[in-house]
Amino acid sequence: MGSISNSDPIFTPEMAAKRQAAEEKASRDFRSDVMTVPTTAMMQAIFNATFVDDIYDPVGDPTVKALEARVMELTGKEAALWVMSGTQGNQICLRTHLTQPPHSVLLDHRAHVQCWESGALPVFSQASVSAVHPKNGVHLTLEDVKANMIADDNIHFPPTRVVALENTLSGTYLPLADAQAISEYVRSYPVAEGTPPIAMHLDAARVFDGVAGEGVSLKDYAACFDSLSICLAKGLGAPMGSIICGSKKFIARAKWYRKMFGGGTRQPGMMAAAALQSLNYTIPRLPAVHAMTRRVGEQLASLGYKFALPVQTNMVVLDLEAVDIPGAAFVEYCAKNNVTTFSNGRLVFHHQTSQDAADSLVDAMTRLMEDKKKGVKLVDEATESGCS
Ligand SMILES: *Cc1c(COP(=O)(O)O)cnc(C)c1O
Repeated sequence: MGSISNSDPIFTPEMAAKRQAAEEKASRDFRSDVMTVPTTAMMQAIFNATFVDDIYDPVGDPTVKALEARVMELTGKEAALWVMSGTQGNQICLRTHLTQPPHSVLLDHRAHVQCWESGALPVFSQASVSAVHPKNGVHLTLEDVKANMIADDNIHFPPTRVVALENTLSGTYLPLADAQAISEYVRSYPVAEGTPPIAMHLDAARVFDGVAGEGVSLKDYAACFDSLSICLAKGLGAPMGSIICGSKKFIARAKWYRKMFGGGTRQPGMMAAAALQSLNYTIPRLPAVHAMTRRVGEQLASLGYKFALPVQTNMVVLDLEAVDIPGAAFVEYCAKNNVTTFSNGRLVFHHQTSQDAADSLVDAMTRLMEDKKKGVKLVDEATESGCS
């Protein structure tokens, strides 16, 4: 058996070229910020990880522990737990809060936990939802929450037990001041004797984008919530995984549900090592990603495009219908410039998006708008786009 000595390069030229080609492809893919590839440093960290069984070992794997500790440090939370995906993280958190029906979760009508998780909430937690349309069209406020809380006093209605917020939601942040106002109200909301206070959960899939975009502290933001589920494989660019965090008591209980939902794993240290690396590498790069997004947004606005939502972090959400451009034509024009998009008009930027790709995108959109104005017939066929 051969072994790798300290002086051996870890990557053969073929391996490096394969990774580089994948990164090149990722650099031109605007469908989602999941479309990144691991950096060389992440892959080196994988080689350098620990390999302890995370279920049998009572202490757990040291690299996983280090990742959890880093997230605790960043969020100011007492405890953290590595999970397989953002969906799993959200559903474990909600299940841990929700004990005995009848009960309901108050959330934004577009919430990922409700709309994009295969209907998991009623299956795992037997919960109803109050799906609220924010009055301001962008994010929930205290006023929206107040108007939709379900009290403990009428047997026709399932009482609110969790208020679940999301930051960012389609690239827009829910401002810290609103999160604070909602949190203060919800946590002091009167409940029946013996019932725990109503819990605040944050789908924090892209919370690093949210706090960087608004320019607020993650610790202040996390303080508004009893649980957070943070994706490591979205804008942060790790190959997989999410982290949930909360109090020690909450996380100890959540660990049972992680096992129950199939999230107990054997040697996750390798993936945790890559994720640790992604936190160090990517967080400082987010402002540059947001700046590029903003520039493209401004260029598209000057071409006459309309937006469904404000451009605040790493997404431009176009309203193609407002300019009467079919989604299929949008995809086709972008593809001609070697740029990949979904037909729904959502453009997502990440740390590997290249300036060259951004220029190609704007160039494709320029031609599309010119052709539209000239009356060129644009393709208009049914398209499918599922994304999160
Ligand atoms: C991606 C995403 C999740 C989790 O999705 P997974 O694909 O299960 O990792 C949760 N919430 C939001 C807002 C997301 O964008």
